[in-house]
Amino acid sequence: MFLGMGPLELVLIVVVVLVIFGPKNLPKIGSALGKTVKNVRKGMEEGKEELEEKASDDSPVHAHDEEDVEVVEDEDDADAPEDADEPVFCSKCGTKNAADADFCSKCGAKLPSSK
Ligand SMILES: [Zn+2]
Repeated sequence: MFLGMGPLELVLIVVVVLVIFGPKNLPKIGSALGKTVKNVRKGMEEGKEELEEKASDDSPVHAHDEEDVEVVEDEDDADAPEDADEPVFCSKCGTKNAADADFCSKCGAKLPSSK
């Protein structure tokens, strides 16, 4: 068929052209139609290539950002359980408190921190 297009596509184009320009201008449009179809098809192929290039460019950037955020969160979580070995004794009443306690469980005094 005409430029490798199927009959349905041709009918669709003719209908669209008739609606836009009206039947009186059809002979003028006929000669320009071939060029138009060529340009449209060329533009569609170029558009596809551009989309694929953009997609491959974007994905590595997103993955990199997510990795950085996760590393920071992991460092914060690792601090707490590490120095839970030695108990802390209150300097005022001598009560033995857990190593991660900030205040004495008996008198409420602030405990010395080994951190
Ligand atoms: Zn105390």
